[in-house]
Amino acid sequence: MRPVVRTTSLFIDGSWTAAADGRERIVTNPFDASDLATVPEASTADVDRAVRAARAAFDAGGWAHAPAARRAAVLTATADALQEHREELARLETLDTGKTLAESRYDVDDSTAVLRYYAALVTTEAGRTVDTGRPDAVSRVVHEPVGVCALITPWNYPLLQITWKLAPALAAGNTVVAKPSEVTPLTTVRLFELLQQPLTEAGAPPGTANLVLGGGAVGAALAEHPDVDLVSFTGGLSTGRSVMRAAAETVKKVALELGGKNPNIVFADSDLDTAVDYALTAAFLHSGQVCSAGSRLLLQRGPDAQFAAAFTAELSRRADRIKLGDGLAKGTECGPLVSADHRAKVERHLAGALAEGAVLRAGGARPDDPELQAGYFLRPTVLTDCHPGMAVVREEVFGPVLTVELFDEEDEAVALANDTPYGLAGAVWTKDAGRAERVAQRLRLGTVWINDYHPYVPQAEWGGFKQSGTGRELGPSGLREYQETKHVWRTLDPAPQYWFSD
Ligand code: NAD
Repeated sequence: MRPVVRTTSLFIDGSWTAAADGRERIVTNPFDASDLATVPEASTADVDRAVRAARAAFDAGGWAHAPAARRAAVLTATADALQEHREELARLETLDTGKTLAESRYDVDDSTAVLRYYAALVTTEAGRTVDTGRPDAVSRVVHEPVGVCALITPWNYPLLQITWKLAPALAAGNTVVAKPSEVTPLTTVRLFELLQQPLTEAGAPPGTANLVLGGGAVGAALAEHPDVDLVSFTGGLSTGRSVMRAAAETVKKVALELGGKNPNIVFADSDLDTAVDYALTAAFLHSGQVCSAGSRLLLQRGPDAQFAAAFTAELSRRADRIKLGDGLAKGTECGPLVSADHRAKVERHLAGALAEGAVLRAGGARPDDPELQAGYFLRPTVLTDCHPGMAVVREEVFGPVLTVELFDEEDEAVALANDTPYGLAGAVWTKDAGRAERVAQRLRLGTVWINDYHPYVPQAEWGGFKQSGTGRELGPSGLREYQETKHVWRTLDPAPQYWFSD
């Protein structure tokens, strides 16, 4: 079934509305470039109105000081609504991003789990008391909401990324202005539709959760706005830098989840078939458009370089068999890239890599299949003979391009893995438990998988070392990002101290 064109709106101060100046943008399906929706393009006036609504809702105090159980109930009801609309949301996500339906369903379930996790966490949080060393004084440390939070998200995991931010932000008692990527805004719009009833039933003021749509200028207007107290941003490194600069003017709190150039280290004692299988998932899930994609394979040569040779042969054979197609169709293993511009960028990286001496072992071109000509497809690509000096090894490509580098010793693998400005995620494959732990300890990464790739749970923190970001999402730290910490000291029966003579 092909979609009908939907018209969506901004959500400001409790009402769905068009952009103040009437501007609109068309959102397309990356599978066939067909139109999916018309969405308003917010102006700075719309952003200002949304921020003022969020400010007024926060300052009114009704939400910030609502019992945690009431805020948790909003999250739980929204989680229930996501599950009720699971199939609809998954289809919409696939239409908007091109990813397979199986992946989109996973994203809906993960978003649901994150909402439930923060609903539970916030109701068990009560700060802590601290020993004052005095019988006549008590001291406690409490956590309070930061204020107005701008939540800016990218196009690759639209529903999941906004939920990772929205759930802890609302749980903590903040008010929010969300801005999804202009490329894939549709499930965020639907999430806001589903959020309305729970918020209203909880008695939250109308400006508690606002939604603005549009491109980088809308995000920049939020990052600069003096009434925004916190910016939580997920996206590319250079955009992250400009968000940080804009936020500096009023010393906003900033949480950044940026890119990665993630190493997948495979030692020669690994089971070859299993490690190849996971290397493919690491690199080509969602056509490699994943911040934690295992886009750098570091492969141990093994005796006479036999292991590396057999591994790359099998990897390339299987990469060439990956079935591209419509994310909605049964049997599709990989969808298209998200846009024509993005595919062109990935192709430039690929041409540069070949010019620098990389050897093409799989993919490297658009598919021939006539049914895939309208979409933004690129075949899963394996490049060998790569070395750390190459741009394709250092820069985030964010597409289905896997580079292979070889090593002999453990120290060399660690040095290669850490030789990048990024530090988001990566994996180590070996049957030697001691080596696995040693390597995991030495990797400068926010997430390390041992003999696995990609799994995570809402209870465990997610984020980057080095230039992959600041702060953490998920886990208890993900809630702390949206909280100020306050120390309250109370003297029970004060008497004059006479520091100064009377
Ligand atoms: P992007 O940086 O181009 O855009 C991200 C968001 O920022 C979009 O909503 C965009 O409209 C907005 N934006 C653009 N310019 C802005 C500005 N000057 N000020 C404020 N906001 C602005 O990123 P993208 O292309 O949408 O997403 C891909 C990037 O996201 C990749 O680098 C990927 O690694 C990263 N990412 C990171 C994580 C993580 O958890 N670390 C997760 C997903 C994606």
